[in-house]
Amino acid sequence: MSDRIGFIGLGIMGRPMAGHLVGAGYEVTVWNRTRSKMDELVRAGARPGSSPKDVATRSDITITMVADTPDVREVILGPGGVIEGVRRGSVVVDMSTISPVATREIAQELAARGAEMLDAPVSGGEKGAIEATLSIMVGGKPEVFERVLPVFRRLGRNIVHLGGIGAGQVTKACNQLVLSLTLVGVAEALTLARRAGVDPAKVRAALLGGFAQSRVLELHGQRMLDGNFEPGFRTRLYHKDMGIVMETGRATGVPLLGGGLAAQLYQAAMSRGLGEKDYSVLAQVIAELAG
Ligand code: NAP
Repeated sequence: MSDRIGFIGLGIMGRPMAGHLVGAGYEVTVWNRTRSKMDELVRAGARPGSSPKDVATRSDITITMVADTPDVREVILGPGGVIEGVRRGSVVVDMSTISPVATREIAQELAARGAEMLDAPVSGGEKGAIEATLSIMVGGKPEVFERVLPVFRRLGRNIVHLGGIGAGQVTKACNQLVLSLTLVGVAEALTLARRAGVDPAKVRAALLGGFAQSRVLELHGQRMLDGNFEPGFRTRLYHKDMGIVMETGRATGVPLLGGGLAAQLYQAAMSRGLGEKDYSVLAQVIAELAG
Protein backbone atom coordinates (compact mmCIF):
# COMPACT_ATOMS: atom_id res chain seq x y z
CA MET A 1 0.00 0.00 0.00
CA SER A 2 1.41 3.39 -0.91
CA ASP A 3 2.04 6.08 1.68
CA ARG A 4 -0.78 8.50 2.42
CA ILE A 5 0.30 12.06 1.70
CA GLY A 6 -0.43 15.29 3.54
CA PHE A 7 0.12 18.62 1.80
CA ILE A 8 0.27 21.93 3.69
CA GLY A 9 0.58 25.22 1.79
CA LEU A 10 -1.29 25.61 -1.50
CA GLY A 11 0.29 28.77 -2.91
CA ILE A 12 1.76 29.30 -6.38
CA MET A 13 3.99 26.24 -5.94
CA GLY A 14 2.04 24.03 -3.54
CA ARG A 15 -1.23 23.95 -5.44
CA PRO A 16 0.06 22.38 -8.68
CA MET A 17 2.40 20.09 -6.73
CA ALA A 18 -0.41 18.72 -4.57
CA GLY A 19 -2.49 18.40 -7.75
CA HIS A 20 0.10 16.06 -9.31
CA LEU A 21 -0.05 13.79 -6.26
CA VAL A 22 -3.84 13.66 -6.37
CA GLY A 23 -3.61 12.96 -10.12
CA ALA A 24 -1.15 10.12 -9.48
CA GLY A 25 -3.74 8.38 -7.32
CA TYR A 26 -2.27 9.03 -3.88
CA GLU A 27 -4.62 9.53 -0.95
CA VAL A 28 -3.86 13.22 -0.28
CA THR A 29 -5.07 15.35 2.63
CA VAL A 30 -4.55 19.09 2.09
CA TRP A 31 -4.60 22.16 4.32
CA ASN A 32 -4.14 25.83 3.55
CA ARG A 33 -4.39 28.81 5.92
CA THR A 34 -6.69 30.58 3.46
CA ARG A 35 -9.18 27.75 3.24
CA SER A 36 -10.75 28.74 -0.09
CA LYS A 37 -7.52 27.72 -1.84
CA MET A 38 -8.31 24.10 -0.90
CA ASP A 39 -11.56 23.96 -2.89
CA GLU A 40 -10.11 23.22 -6.31
CA LEU A 41 -8.01 20.32 -4.99
CA VAL A 42 -10.88 18.91 -2.97
CA ARG A 43 -12.98 18.92 -6.14
CA ALA A 44 -10.13 17.00 -7.81
CA GLY A 45 -10.22 14.31 -5.11
CA ALA A 46 -8.10 15.56 -2.18
CA ARG A 47 -9.42 15.35 1.38
CA PRO A 48 -9.72 18.62 3.30
CA GLY A 49 -7.73 18.74 6.54
CA SER A 50 -8.90 20.89 9.46
CA SER A 51 -5.38 21.81 10.72
CA PRO A 52 -1.73 20.86 10.15
CA LYS A 53 -2.11 18.44 13.09
CA ASP A 54 -5.12 16.82 11.41
CA VAL A 55 -3.19 16.47 8.13
CA ALA A 56 -0.24 14.78 9.89
CA THR A 57 -2.58 12.46 11.81
CA ARG A 58 -4.12 11.27 8.53
CA SER A 59 -0.85 10.99 6.58
CA ASP A 60 2.33 8.90 6.48
CA ILE A 61 4.31 11.57 4.64
CA THR A 62 3.45 15.22 5.33
CA ILE A 63 4.78 17.83 2.91
CA THR A 64 5.01 21.53 3.83
CA MET A 65 5.29 24.22 1.13
CA VAL A 66 4.83 27.56 2.91
CA ALA A 67 6.65 30.86 2.65
CA ASP A 68 9.42 31.44 5.20
CA THR A 69 11.27 30.00 8.20
CA PRO A 70 8.80 31.32 10.85
CA ASP A 71 5.90 29.93 8.78
CA VAL A 72 7.44 26.44 8.64
CA ARG A 73 8.05 26.62 12.40
CA GLU A 74 4.43 27.63 12.91
CA VAL A 75 2.81 24.89 10.82
CA ILE A 76 5.13 22.17 12.14
CA LEU A 77 5.89 23.17 15.75
CA GLY A 78 3.12 25.67 16.57
CA PRO A 79 -0.19 24.94 18.33
CA GLY A 80 -2.25 22.51 16.24
CA GLY A 81 0.92 21.87 14.25
CA VAL A 82 2.21 18.83 12.38
CA ILE A 83 4.26 17.72 15.39
CA GLU A 84 1.06 17.03 17.34
CA GLY A 85 -0.13 14.59 14.67
CA VAL A 86 3.06 12.64 13.85
CA ARG A 87 3.91 9.19 15.20
CA ARG A 88 6.89 6.83 14.99
CA GLY A 89 7.63 6.25 11.29
CA SER A 90 5.95 9.45 10.08
CA VAL A 91 7.99 11.53 7.63
CA VAL A 92 7.81 15.31 7.36
CA VAL A 93 9.18 16.78 4.12
CA ASP A 94 9.69 20.52 4.04
CA MET A 95 9.88 21.73 0.45
CA SER A 96 9.81 25.46 1.31
CA THR A 97 13.03 27.45 1.04
CA ILE A 98 14.13 28.24 4.60
CA SER A 99 17.18 28.51 6.86
CA PRO A 100 19.37 25.36 7.02
CA VAL A 101 20.02 26.08 10.72
CA ALA A 102 16.30 26.24 11.56
CA THR A 103 15.73 23.10 9.47
CA ARG A 104 18.11 21.12 11.70
CA GLU A 105 16.37 22.44 14.84
CA ILE A 106 12.93 21.45 13.53
CA ALA A 107 14.23 17.99 12.58
CA GLN A 108 15.50 17.49 16.15
CA GLU A 109 12.11 18.34 17.62
CA LEU A 110 10.40 15.91 15.24
CA ALA A 111 12.97 13.20 16.02
CA ALA A 112 12.05 13.49 19.71
CA ARG A 113 8.54 12.33 18.63
CA GLY A 114 9.95 9.49 16.53
CA ALA A 115 9.31 11.26 13.19
CA GLU A 116 11.83 11.65 10.38
CA MET A 117 12.41 14.80 8.36
CA LEU A 118 13.78 15.62 4.93
CA ASP A 119 14.50 19.13 3.66
CA ALA A 120 13.68 19.22 -0.04
CA PRO A 121 13.61 22.76 -1.44
CA VAL A 122 13.01 23.11 -5.15
CA SER A 123 14.00 25.21 -8.11
CA GLY A 124 12.27 25.56 -11.45
CA GLY A 125 9.61 28.05 -10.43
CA GLU A 126 5.89 28.02 -11.08
CA LYS A 127 6.48 26.55 -14.54
CA GLY A 128 8.43 23.65 -13.05
CA ALA A 129 5.71 23.06 -10.46
CA ILE A 130 2.96 23.03 -13.10
CA GLU A 131 4.91 20.81 -15.49
CA ALA A 132 6.28 18.55 -12.69
CA THR A 133 9.83 19.27 -13.84
CA LEU A 134 11.20 20.76 -10.61
CA SER A 135 14.76 20.25 -9.44
CA ILE A 136 14.54 18.88 -5.91
CA MET A 137 17.52 19.23 -3.55
CA VAL A 138 17.23 16.82 -0.66
CA GLY A 139 18.87 16.52 2.75
CA GLY A 140 18.23 13.79 5.32
CA LYS A 141 18.81 10.08 5.95
CA PRO A 142 19.35 8.04 2.74
CA GLU A 143 16.72 5.45 3.68
CA VAL A 144 14.11 8.18 4.25
CA PHE A 145 15.06 9.71 0.89
CA GLU A 146 14.53 6.32 -0.80
CA ARG A 147 11.10 6.01 0.80
CA VAL A 148 9.96 9.44 -0.41
CA LEU A 149 11.61 9.19 -3.86
CA PRO A 150 8.48 7.86 -5.65
CA VAL A 151 6.61 10.95 -4.39
CA PHE A 152 9.41 13.30 -5.51
CA ARG A 153 9.32 11.65 -8.96
CA ARG A 154 5.73 12.88 -9.38
CA LEU A 155 6.90 16.47 -8.79
CA GLY A 156 10.24 16.83 -10.47
CA ARG A 157 12.95 15.48 -12.74
CA ASN A 158 16.32 16.35 -11.29
CA ILE A 159 16.11 14.86 -7.81
CA VAL A 160 19.39 14.84 -5.90
CA HIS A 161 20.19 13.59 -2.39
CA LEU A 162 22.97 15.87 -1.13
CA GLY A 163 23.70 14.73 2.42
CA GLY A 164 22.30 14.99 5.93
CA ILE A 165 19.45 17.21 7.11
CA GLY A 166 19.93 20.82 5.95
CA ALA A 167 22.05 19.89 2.91
CA GLY A 168 19.13 20.58 0.58
CA GLN A 169 18.68 24.09 1.98
CA VAL A 170 22.42 24.83 1.70
CA THR A 171 22.27 23.76 -1.96
CA LYS A 172 19.21 25.93 -2.56
CA ALA A 173 21.08 28.91 -1.02
CA CYS A 174 23.90 28.27 -3.54
CA ASN A 175 21.30 28.12 -6.32
CA GLN A 176 19.76 31.45 -5.28
CA LEU A 177 23.21 33.07 -5.11
CA VAL A 178 24.01 32.08 -8.71
CA LEU A 179 20.53 32.99 -9.92
CA SER A 180 20.47 36.44 -8.29
CA LEU A 181 23.82 37.46 -9.74
CA THR A 182 22.83 36.21 -13.17
CA LEU A 183 19.63 38.23 -12.92
CA VAL A 184 21.56 41.38 -11.97
CA GLY A 185 23.85 40.82 -14.98
CA VAL A 186 20.95 40.36 -17.38
CA ALA A 187 19.07 43.40 -16.01
CA GLU A 188 22.15 45.61 -16.24
CA ALA A 189 22.99 44.38 -19.75
CA LEU A 190 19.49 45.09 -21.10
CA THR A 191 19.48 48.54 -19.45
CA LEU A 192 22.91 49.28 -20.89
CA ALA A 193 21.82 48.18 -24.38
CA ARG A 194 18.73 50.40 -24.27
CA ARG A 195 20.64 53.46 -23.04
CA ALA A 196 23.38 52.85 -25.61
CA GLY A 197 20.77 52.93 -28.36
CA VAL A 198 20.73 49.22 -29.24
CA ASP A 199 17.48 47.26 -29.22
CA PRO A 200 17.59 45.17 -25.99
CA ALA A 201 15.41 42.46 -27.58
CA LYS A 202 18.05 41.99 -30.30
CA VAL A 203 20.80 41.97 -27.65
CA ARG A 204 18.96 39.24 -25.74
CA ALA A 205 18.55 37.19 -28.92
CA ALA A 206 22.23 37.60 -29.81
CA LEU A 207 23.42 36.65 -26.33
CA LEU A 208 21.22 33.55 -26.28
CA GLY A 209 23.42 32.11 -29.04
CA GLY A 210 26.67 32.46 -27.08
CA PHE A 211 28.37 31.81 -23.75
CA ALA A 212 26.13 34.29 -21.92
CA GLN A 213 23.17 32.02 -22.63
CA SER A 214 21.12 31.09 -19.56
CA ARG A 215 17.56 30.24 -18.54
CA VAL A 216 17.51 33.58 -16.71
CA LEU A 217 18.39 35.45 -19.92
CA GLU A 218 15.80 33.41 -21.81
CA LEU A 219 12.83 33.57 -19.41
CA HIS A 220 13.47 36.58 -17.20
CA GLY A 221 15.14 38.54 -19.97
CA GLN A 222 11.89 38.22 -21.92
CA ARG A 223 9.87 39.29 -18.88
CA MET A 224 12.10 42.37 -18.54
CA LEU A 225 11.59 43.27 -22.21
CA ASP A 226 7.81 42.83 -21.84
CA GLY A 227 7.72 44.69 -18.50
CA ASN A 228 5.72 41.66 -17.25
CA PHE A 229 6.40 41.39 -13.53
CA GLU A 230 3.39 39.32 -12.49
CA PRO A 231 4.63 36.49 -10.26
CA GLY A 232 6.11 33.90 -10.91
CA PHE A 233 8.37 34.13 -7.93
CA ARG A 234 7.52 36.96 -5.59
CA THR A 235 10.23 39.51 -4.80
CA ARG A 236 9.49 39.25 -1.06
CA LEU A 237 10.32 35.53 -1.22
CA TYR A 238 13.54 36.20 -3.11
CA HIS A 239 14.44 38.88 -0.56
CA LYS A 240 13.87 36.19 2.08
CA ASP A 241 16.13 33.79 0.17
CA MET A 242 18.95 36.34 -0.04
CA GLY A 243 18.65 36.68 3.75
CA ILE A 244 19.19 32.90 4.00
CA VAL A 245 22.19 33.13 1.65
CA MET A 246 23.80 35.89 3.73
CA GLU A 247 22.99 34.13 7.03
CA THR A 248 24.60 30.94 5.74
CA GLY A 249 27.69 32.90 4.65
CA ARG A 250 27.95 34.48 8.08
CA ALA A 251 27.44 31.15 9.88
CA THR A 252 30.23 29.55 7.85
CA GLY A 253 32.59 32.55 7.70
CA VAL A 254 32.40 33.01 3.91
CA PRO A 255 32.37 36.58 2.56
CA LEU A 256 29.72 36.83 -0.16
CA LEU A 257 30.45 40.09 -1.97
CA GLY A 258 28.25 39.45 -4.99
CA GLY A 259 25.53 38.01 -2.76
CA GLY A 260 25.60 41.17 -0.64
CA LEU A 261 25.12 43.33 -3.73
CA ALA A 262 22.15 41.29 -4.93
CA ALA A 263 20.67 41.25 -1.42
CA GLN A 264 20.81 45.06 -1.27
CA LEU A 265 19.18 45.39 -4.69
CA TYR A 266 16.34 43.17 -3.45
CA GLN A 267 16.12 45.39 -0.37
CA ALA A 268 15.74 48.38 -2.71
CA ALA A 269 12.93 46.57 -4.56
CA MET A 270 11.18 45.86 -1.23
CA SER A 271 11.63 49.49 -0.13
CA ARG A 272 9.90 50.56 -3.35
CA GLY A 273 6.87 48.40 -2.47
CA LEU A 274 7.59 45.80 -5.17
CA GLY A 275 7.42 42.75 -2.86
CA GLU A 276 4.46 41.15 -4.61
CA LYS A 277 5.99 41.53 -8.10
CA ASP A 278 8.03 38.83 -9.84
CA TYR A 279 11.69 38.85 -8.77
CA SER A 280 12.74 39.90 -12.29
CA VAL A 281 11.38 43.35 -11.28
CA LEU A 282 14.99 44.01 -10.30
CA ALA A 283 15.28 45.23 -13.91
CA GLN A 284 12.96 48.11 -12.99
CA VAL A 285 15.09 49.02 -9.95
CA ILE A 286 18.26 48.95 -12.06
CA ALA A 287 16.62 51.03 -14.80
CA GLU A 288 15.59 53.58 -12.14
CA LEU A 289 19.18 53.73 -10.88
CA ALA A 290 20.15 54.60 -14.44
CA GLY A 291 17.68 57.49 -14.31
P1 NAP B 1 3.06 31.79 -2.16
O1 NAP B 1 2.32 31.67 -3.43
O2 NAP B 1 3.22 33.12 -1.50
O3 NAP B 1 2.35 30.78 -1.11
C1 NAP B 1 2.76 30.69 0.22
C2 NAP B 1 1.93 29.63 0.91
O4 NAP B 1 2.36 29.55 2.28
C3 NAP B 1 0.44 29.96 0.95
O5 NAP B 1 -0.26 28.74 0.86
C4 NAP B 1 0.28 30.59 2.33
O6 NAP B 1 -1.01 30.51 2.84
C5 NAP B 1 1.24 29.73 3.13
N1 NAP B 1 1.66 30.37 4.37
C6 NAP B 1 2.51 31.43 4.50
N2 NAP B 1 2.70 31.72 5.80
C7 NAP B 1 1.96 30.82 6.50
C8 NAP B 1 1.75 30.60 7.89
N3 NAP B 1 2.36 31.35 8.83
N4 NAP B 1 0.94 29.59 8.24
C9 NAP B 1 0.33 28.84 7.33
N5 NAP B 1 0.49 28.98 5.99
C10 NAP B 1 1.30 29.96 5.60
O7 NAP B 1 4.52 31.18 -2.25
P2 NAP B 1 5.12 30.11 -3.29
O8 NAP B 1 5.64 30.84 -4.47
O9 NAP B 1 4.17 28.97 -3.46
O10 NAP B 1 6.43 29.64 -2.48
C11 NAP B 1 6.40 28.63 -1.47
C12 NAP B 1 7.84 28.28 -1.10
O11 NAP B 1 8.50 27.77 -2.26
C13 NAP B 1 8.67 29.47 -0.59
O12 NAP B 1 9.54 29.06 0.44
C14 NAP B 1 9.44 29.88 -1.82
O13 NAP B 1 10.67 30.53 -1.49
C15 NAP B 1 9.67 28.54 -2.50
N6 NAP B 1 9.90 28.60 -3.94
C16 NAP B 1 9.09 29.36 -4.75
C17 NAP B 1 9.33 29.39 -6.13
C18 NAP B 1 8.48 30.22 -7.06
O14 NAP B 1 8.89 30.41 -8.22
N7 NAP B 1 7.30 30.69 -6.67
C19 NAP B 1 10.40 28.65 -6.67
C20 NAP B 1 11.16 27.87 -5.85
C21 NAP B 1 10.90 27.85 -4.47
P3 NAP B 1 -2.15 31.61 2.44
O15 NAP B 1 -2.73 31.11 1.16
O16 NAP B 1 -3.10 31.60 3.57
O17 NAP B 1 -1.44 32.93 2.31
